[in-house]
This record gives sequence, C-alpha cells and structure tokens, in this order.
Amino acid sequence: MTRFNRNARGAARVWIVAVLALGVGVATESRPAQAPGAAPEPQAPAGEGRRGQQPGRQGRGQDQGRVTGPSGAVIGYTNLAEIPGTPWRIHDAVRPQPRVATPGATPGAPPSDAIVLFDGKDLSKWMQSKGGQVMDSTWPVHDGYFETGAGSGSIRTRENFGDVQLHVEFSTPAKVQGNSQGRGNSGVIFMGVYEVQVLDSYDNVTYADGMAGSIYGEYPPLVNAARKPGEWQTYDIAFEAPRFNGTTLVSPAYLTVIWNGVLVHNRRPVMGRTSATTTQHAYTPHDAELPLTLQDHANPVRYRNIWIRRLTGYDQAAAK
Ligand code: MG
Repeated sequence: MTRFNRNARGAARVWIVAVLALGVGVATESRPAQAPGAAPEPQAPAGEGRRGQQPGRQGRGQDQGRVTGPSGAVIGYTNLAEIPGTPWRIHDAVRPQPRVATPGATPGAPPSDAIVLFDGKDLSKWMQSKGGQVMDSTWPVHDGYFETGAGSGSIRTRENFGDVQLHVEFSTPAKVQGNSQGRGNSGVIFMGVYEVQVLDSYDNVTYADGMAGSIYGEYPPLVNAARKPGEWQTYDIAFEAPRFNGTTLVSPAYLTVIWNGVLVHNRRPVMGRTSATTTQHAYTPHDAELPLTLQDHANPVRYRNIWIRRLTGYDQAAAK
C-alpha cells in the first residue's frame, strides 16, 4: 500500500473542502436517488474519549467538521478518524460518490455499464482464428442463443480484458450423450489462459478438478451446483488478472465464481496456465489485457446472455 503524503493530503483537503463548500453539496442534492437522508450522529473516533462523556454531549469538545447540504441534511464530516491506508477520514465529506451503474431490469440482465458480448442476436463481438487467419465467428446463432462450433475451434472476444465481472449463461445438451469429459464440455477461459470449466456435471462423474465450475486442473468447485442437462445455468465470475513485473509474477490471478447463485470459489488464487497437465501449472508473463475465450470441445453447448464489466478500484467518481 502506498503511503499517502500527509502534507500533500492536508493541502489537498483544504482545497477540496473549499470546493465542497462552494457547490459539491448542491451537486449531491441534485440527485435524489443518491442523496443521503439524515445521517446518524457518528461515534467519537477511537482513542478520542467517548468514555466519560455525558449523554447528549457526544462530539462536543472537538470539531467534527460537520458538512450539510442545501436541505440541511448532514452529508459528511471533515474531521473524524482517519481510515488507515486511504486518504480518507470516516464519513469523509469529500470522498467521491461512486458513479451510477443502473442494474438490469431483471436478475441476470446487464447493468448499464456492462459490455454486452451476446444479446441473443449475433456474434459480432467475437472472432475465431484458423490456420493463423482471423475471421468472424462461425458458431451457429439461433433464436436467442448460440452454440459451440462442434469442432470448428474456439472463439474469442475482439476486445481485450483484464480485471472483469462476467455473467454467462450456458446449457449442456438435453439429450445426454457421452460421459466424463465428453459430455457438454466447453469452457470460459479468461485471457485465453485461465479456464473455468463448462461441463454437464449432473450425475456425470469425472475427475473433480475437471468438473463444471472447476478451475481446470486446480480446484473443484466447493459444491456441485449443476442443473439438469438442457436447463439454463449461470456463472457470475469475478476475475482478477495476474500482475507481472517484467518476467516476475507480482500477483496471481484470482477467481471468484458463483454458479447458479451458489458460491463455488471465493477469490481463489490461480496457480497458472490451466491447460497444462503433464507439468505443474505456472505463469508465463503476458499482456495486462487479453481476449476472453469460449472453448470449443466438439460438444454442442449453448450460450446466451453474456456480458462483462471492467472492474475498477474504489473512489472512482463519475466523469464530469
Ligand atoms: Mg473445457
């Protein structure tokens, strides 16, 4: 964690508070959905002596720097306890309001800041490569869904991604054919390197670290949350890309996977490239952003409603 320069912070704070006094409160109040109601009185900061205070006198004796908006509602403070490792104080009046991401109208629908990778119509956001030649996806698109290419090769997004939230819906064949890894096999492969397995794992035994929901060759899902063949299933995945400094791994990839509403990986560190089986998984340095791949394993798996969001850090205010 970078240490914040306190002098710089103090100077910035004086400036920001001055700006706030001139109009940030007005901006906040102009957005009713975001405007806080009457904020509760905060507790005295730790170490600053709640003990011994008389009822009704809490907060007196120190300037909490209460900030009110035009309506008179308390919308923050300037002088409560510092939050360690951040440039902010508790209930900081100048901490940026998060930008708005309007949720989808129904569960699973893309929020307003998502990049829709498949909306039921076409695969224009995807491409395929054959023999070194890049081409449009040849996977068949039907009414509201598409199907793997049954041996034509995997597809990947035209756009590159690093840290993301991904929503994807899939369905393995209603008519069960094959067994183990040959039954409804596909895969969601982040950066073309790190695979969350797609498979028909309803009453289908295979090696645990290769079943649906597994981080392939590394971790089985915490539980088997498979729906029946032919039923639509969901993955909601948070993927954090690995960080490299030259050829040195600084931070591994992390996967959090929710399968049909059930948490099956909780920010699990990935060991490396998941395709390896005869050698231990290891990292090979790569770009910070790479395409997302859907695997063609010659089994007819269906997909629909795929969207992705780039993940950003805290305190990223909306662009003005
Ligand atoms: Mg697979």
